[in-house]
Amino acid sequence: MQLAEQRLTAIKQRIHNACRDTGREQSDVTIIGASKTKDAQLIKSFGQAGLKDVGENYLQEAIGKQQALSTLPLNWHFIGSIQSNKTKLIAQHFDWVHGVDRLKIAQRLARQNNKSSPIKVLIQINPDLEDSKAGVALDTAAELADAMAQIDHLQIHGYMMIPMPRDSEAEQRRVFAKAKKTLETSNQRYGLNMRHLSMGMSADLEAAIAEGSTMVRIGTDLFGTRV
Ligand SMILES: *Cc1c(COP(=O)(O)O)cnc(C)c1O
Repeated sequence: MQLAEQRLTAIKQRIHNACRDTGREQSDVTIIGASKTKDAQLIKSFGQAGLKDVGENYLQEAIGKQQALSTLPLNWHFIGSIQSNKTKLIAQHFDWVHGVDRLKIAQRLARQNNKSSPIKVLIQINPDLEDSKAGVALDTAAELADAMAQIDHLQIHGYMMIPMPRDSEAEQRRVFAKAKKTLETSNQRYGLNMRHLSMGMSADLEAAIAEGSTMVRIGTDLFGTRV
């Protein structure tokens, strides 16, 4: 087996085990290859091995790779921090935008979306209220989701989070469970139908899946360490 196939198989096995242990369907969890700093050739080998979803953090870097990989049927996710002067290119080049945390950004993405399908967005939650990270507090997410649900040409699908590292899987699960709870209460309170939680990375995908993640963003354990 080639490297890409081996790494992808290993991640699928971890997801399989996490789903089996917690009574979830493996088909409900999408692997997003978080490929920042990795070149198009490497991503291509993963695409050929069956990876369908790619997450990029830096707009210019991503656009170059998209051009190089245009023959592969990949879904592109923007998972980096969003500056408002970049929303036009983000809207035009990505299917999904994780990490939206202001209504104004969502409105711009919707207005600048030139695709026939609505742009799909996730609201970033900042559970530890870290200054270095984007995202809203847990208790304001629902209201923002309701406001975004009113915007045309945009679909709000759920929440994304990048918690601080925790020492144990129990601690990891505790914070991911808060996102799950927030998704449920948001849907109930505002009659929404959000179904996605983008959470879990190389180090904590099992805990995230145990608490309902539907999209794990995997960098290191697929593409190798970043320099
Ligand atoms: C880099 C990155 C990841 C992947 O992290 P790993 O620990 O390398 O798996 C996931 N999500 C975001 C937003 C990232 O920037």
